[in-house]
Amino acid sequence: MRLISTIAEMQSFSREARAQGKSLGLVPTMGALHEGHLSLVRRACAQCDVVVASIFVNPAQFGPAEDLSRYPRNLQQDLDLLQEHKIEAVFCPPAEEIYPPGFDTTVGPGTLAELFEGASRPGHFRGVATVVLKLFNIVQPDVAYFGQKDFQQVQVVRRLVEDLNLPVRLVVCPIVREADGLAMSSRNAYLSAEERKTATILHCSLRHAERQVHGGETSTVRLVAEIRKFIEEVPGTQLDYVAIVEPLQLQAVERVSTGCVALVAARVGPARLIDNLIFGPPGETPDRLIQLAMASRLVASSEARLPGLEIDLLKKRIETCRDCAAVSAIRLPPSEFLLKYLRRDYPDLSVVRVAIIARDSPLKPENYLYHRPENGNRFTSILFEQLGVASFEEFRARFVLTDALRCHCTGPRPSERALAACAKFLPDELRLLPNLNTMLVLGEDAYGQFQRNILGRGVNEIQHFQERLGDQGWAEESVVMAALGGRNVRAIYAHHPTLGYRRSPSLASLFK
Ligand code: AMP
Repeated sequence: MRLISTIAEMQSFSREARAQGKSLGLVPTMGALHEGHLSLVRRACAQCDVVVASIFVNPAQFGPAEDLSRYPRNLQQDLDLLQEHKIEAVFCPPAEEIYPPGFDTTVGPGTLAELFEGASRPGHFRGVATVVLKLFNIVQPDVAYFGQKDFQQVQVVRRLVEDLNLPVRLVVCPIVREADGLAMSSRNAYLSAEERKTATILHCSLRHAERQVHGGETSTVRLVAEIRKFIEEVPGTQLDYVAIVEPLQLQAVERVSTGCVALVAARVGPARLIDNLIFGPPGETPDRLIQLAMASRLVASSEARLPGLEIDLLKKRIETCRDCAAVSAIRLPPSEFLLKYLRRDYPDLSVVRVAIIARDSPLKPENYLYHRPENGNRFTSILFEQLGVASFEEFRARFVLTDALRCHCTGPRPSERALAACAKFLPDELRLLPNLNTMLVLGEDAYGQFQRNILGRGVNEIQHFQERLGDQGWAEESVVMAALGGRNVRAIYAHHPTLGYRRSPSLASLFK
């Protein structure tokens, strides 16, 4: 492991690695390393040929009254910890190397950097953006590793990478916590034993909100009030902010949906601590929650030379979606559904009574229901259970899962425009099913799309999805489907089997 302190040596090290065709991962840190940092290091070592960790307590991101001078520094211990990993170099420059006399250019991140941490710590993100850009230029990594712990920082860096076309991929790693839930942080060292216990309230309050959301609460006003109450009731804490925001622009939302994030900051004794939680369906893994929050596509190693998130790329494709066939990321084009699977799996289309409209978007496209019925996936296994069918054979004897309303978007929220574009294929599919008498519409996206684009209802005529389903977890109505020549059809609405927070009860009795 090489200890590098000059920019020139770091640049020549990187040039060499790149000349050998090796992928290079960078883990930027401010030292005082703990398991949170080491989780980034481990991820980088697993994904890149050469890994560089940087240790630099960046003066530019500390305000004049902040803790720069007492920020914990323990280089030898950090090096000992890094030594245990497959790290090629540690870049550890003195402050004058990064900010020599005469230094006078900074990177001004935009509106994202004015919120939350930026509001409480003016200039903080300018310092972060400047040093991150400098580190990227010095180390020239292919992939850079950041922690979800600093959620806003991740989004500021993401904007920096996108806006300035930096040729680096970002990997975001989940928050590593102490056994009692406290997010690991170098600043936890400031806490006394008593304060250390008090500090767990940040995490407890977030978990409490998560439980509420899993129980059906979606009002962020109520959730924020609860978190606030939790923290403010504990003596020795001083709350700075609590907010529930959508993850990309960090704008407050009225209702929680998958990928939304709760952000908190509070002072406990001498330490200012931050924490966050990404909301998502119960049981999602931390990595998957990050993926949902980033509204991006995880680049699987099969296709990509490098790991990381192709941030917003897919989203952009979807926003410009004019026709499914024009989108390269499509999982199952409607024509493929009509020509291949319907013909293959439904020799007698008159058996189908129920068309299910839902997004089945398994992470691996080959696991999509009709691609490999024998494989199964989480979506189909829960769906089959809810319908009371034991196998694909039983399923196709009565049901069809329609493709047309399932947008190819892998992010949590396909745009209305994409949904409208996909919706136009549905009538053609449904017309092939002469005995169709029921539509089962699963999930909020499909519901909105069905109401707007199939039934042609206006915004004011559409009841909110969660309210419509209520405590029962499903609802039904009789609808006249112009798309089917004015036929009367029973429409049943229920929760999506895997997206969102709530699950519907068994629907089997509805289809007897
Ligand atoms: P810092 O040394 O605080 O600047 O952190 C360096 C990197 O480690 C940042 O990307 C942080 O988000 C990340 N990090 C810090 N604490 C944790 C944690 N508890 N879990 C995961 N990542 C963390």
